Amino acid sequence: MRILNRRGRLALATGGKALDVAEVSAGRFAADPQAVWPRWEEFADWARAVDASRGTAYGEEELGPPVPRPRQVLAAGLNYRDHAAEAGLPVPEHPPIFTKFPSCLTGPYGRVLLPSASCDWEVELVVVVGRESRHLATRDAWSHVAGLMVGQDLSERQVQLRPPVPQFSIGKSFPGFGPMGPALVTLDEIPNPDDLALECAIDGEVVQQSRTSQMIFPVPELIARLSSTLTLYPGDVIFTGTPPGVGMGRKPPRFLRAGEVLESTIEHVGTIRQTFVVDAPGGGHE
Ligand code: ZN
Repeated sequence: MRILNRRGRLALATGGKALDVAEVSAGRFAADPQAVWPRWEEFADWARAVDASRGTAYGEEELGPPVPRPRQVLAAGLNYRDHAAEAGLPVPEHPPIFTKFPSCLTGPYGRVLLPSASCDWEVELVVVVGRESRHLATRDAWSHVAGLMVGQDLSERQVQLRPPVPQFSIGKSFPGFGPMGPALVTLDEIPNPDDLALECAIDGEVVQQSRTSQMIFPVPELIARLSSTLTLYPGDVIFTGTPPGVGMGRKPPRFLRAGEVLESTIEHVGTIRQTFVVDAPGGGHE
């Protein structure tokens, strides 16, 4: 299944068409994409039997974040070996964890305002939790996942790394800094969720390219470790870390500029696309 937020309403998608869940379920499930989470498993059972190809064609501009208001947004830093190396840091024994405040979340396509000249890209596999989870065993973790999305952990590096101690959560939570989607893709659509190609490109130039099999803490281990500390709830969103190739690690560093288009793709999951703008007098320009 591919689950969309279409104009703020929960929808099921296939082949460029989407079916409105509230309408086709005759009100059994609410239109609000966030309302489904306490009933995720009931919804998933119902949705599997629905033929989404009966829906209507939709445009990119209609799509919002598939999970618009998660209870928790967790993110892992330094989860790919080569990315730790480019950051000049040792491979961690424990995954560094921060949050992206939910106000930064946005849909899969659109414009993002650059607050400074030191904003960076980080393509990431984003996991959405499907079942309440506490003290999960690694082998059980995938069964607690609702599905996957493509995400960008956009990062303002000066704020993120400002002394006296790094401020990852603030530096990564400017408005629009958490684009995700285009759909929430359930695991039955994904042949091997432990080994997915991911990449991102700026104006067509590939800047990051790796596979999720290169993670230091693979998704099941990451979820198990998180659940050993906190309770994970249905609809919680987890950014799982970025591979090498971010702008900060380049010599000289290279950051996002107005007018540039960032495309991020994960195999079997999809592609999201952001265009960057600056806040110029007389209106933003690209
Ligand atoms: Zn990240």
